[in-house]
Amino acid sequence: MANDSVVIIGAGQGGFQAAASLRQDGFAGRIVLIGEEAGLPYQRPPLSKAYLKDGDAGRLSLRPAAFYEQHRVELLDGRLAVDIDRDAQLVRTDAGESIPYGHLILATGSRNVQPPIAGIDTDGIQELRTLRDAAAIRARLVDVRTALVIGGGFIGLEFAAVARGVGIDVTVIEAAPRLMARAVSPEMSRRFATLHQALGTRLVLGQAVTGILSDPCGQARGVRLADGSEHHADMLLLAAGVRPNTDLAARAGLAVDNGILVDTFLQTSDPSISALGDCAAYPDARTGRRIRLESVQAATDHARTISRRLMGSPEPYTTVPWFWSDQADWKLQIAGLGQDDDTVQSREGPNGAVTILRFAKNRLVCVETVNAAAEHMAARRLLAMTPAVTREEVENCPGGLGELLKTRNTIPARQRALI
Ligand SMILES: Cc1cc2nc3c(=O)[nH]c(=O)nc-3n(C[C@H](O)[C@H](O)[C@H](O)COP(=O)(O)OP(=O)(O)OC[C@H]3O[C@@H](n4cnc5c(N)ncnc54)[C@H](O)[C@@H]3O)c2cc1C
Repeated sequence: MANDSVVIIGAGQGGFQAAASLRQDGFAGRIVLIGEEAGLPYQRPPLSKAYLKDGDAGRLSLRPAAFYEQHRVELLDGRLAVDIDRDAQLVRTDAGESIPYGHLILATGSRNVQPPIAGIDTDGIQELRTLRDAAAIRARLVDVRTALVIGGGFIGLEFAAVARGVGIDVTVIEAAPRLMARAVSPEMSRRFATLHQALGTRLVLGQAVTGILSDPCGQARGVRLADGSEHHADMLLLAAGVRPNTDLAARAGLAVDNGILVDTFLQTSDPSISALGDCAAYPDARTGRRIRLESVQAATDHARTISRRLMGSPEPYTTVPWFWSDQADWKLQIAGLGQDDDTVQSREGPNGAVTILRFAKNRLVCVETVNAAAEHMAARRLLAMTPAVTREEVENCPGGLGELLKTRNTIPARQRALI
């Protein structure tokens, strides 16, 4: 492998990291990084947070241009990979290039869901996925007075908090009965609903948008809901979730099912092809469930796992997932994965800090915190331990997860196995 060539399709968070990790791990062969978007690979999280406020695009680049030259990473930006020929081990781009690979990494990310809403293709509906989207939104924030957000997930709510911060009248419409329902406990949804209402955002929950209303110039200016009510605004943001970019993989005959199917080593059904990040569905080491995560941590850790395997040190991917979201001055951090039927316990900390513990069958499976970074860090380490932390252990440790971590670390592994 050391002198072969690696081609990476998708120059986002995970694609960039795969190239960087391969060089760091001593890979000497050719690396080609193909990216549909023009320009240097950049980070997306600030697009719905700091960038909307400061407009500083320079700070988003994952590395300066010199990095790619110094590390011999051939960045082909502004190119769409259109075909994978698995027999010939070639990738074709829309610029007519045919690029041979020894190993191929699919890091194609995800795209915004277009829900079945009448008029969803009306002009003027904003999306927030790329730097170009964020720049367009930022330009409009200067003169819009009212905004409607379709979708009460992380991105919609981060936008809502920024928009309220500059005095825009914001309404968030969410089809589910609570905010961020896919990702957090009902208790955390409730707390964030209170936060956004206190900021002055109107929340309409449990109501699906059925139609887009437009002005005489054909610009989107409002929505109609399932109950027939209408809401009007200067600007609409569609933030109703994402779906993985799997078309290229499916056309190449790779196994796909809500993500490109990979094993615990992030290898696809073809041993010469790996997949990572938003587009990859992998078996979770703790539950055996196949999952697909949309987070910076998953994309970067997957990339490191693939690089180590290609360099001859394969290790299964077992990292505890974690995620963050910044909404106004609340930093939400999540470690582990909650389950629909888990039970929840919450604890208040100093200065408004909150920790919500989620248990499945008496075992700690997920910890959600607000403004409690130390608890979050302790949770990540506790959730990685075997055997799993029990509810009794948590209840016997009222001092918090940091204290429980110290206690656990003092118990020899052999004894811990008996807990
Ligand atoms: C506004 C916003 C805020 C976010 N905030 C957070 C956050 O706070 N915390 C967090 O953990 N995560 C956050 N995320 C999610 C996080 O950015 C993604 O999970 C992460 O970028 C996934 O990395 P990836 O490499 O899988 O995909 P991406 O970084 O999306 O990169 C995929 C790239 O592949 C390109 N591509 C696709 N198909 C092709 C093709 N055929 N040929 C060439 N190129 C192709 C795409 O254009 C894209 O540039 C946020 C995302 C957005 C959009």
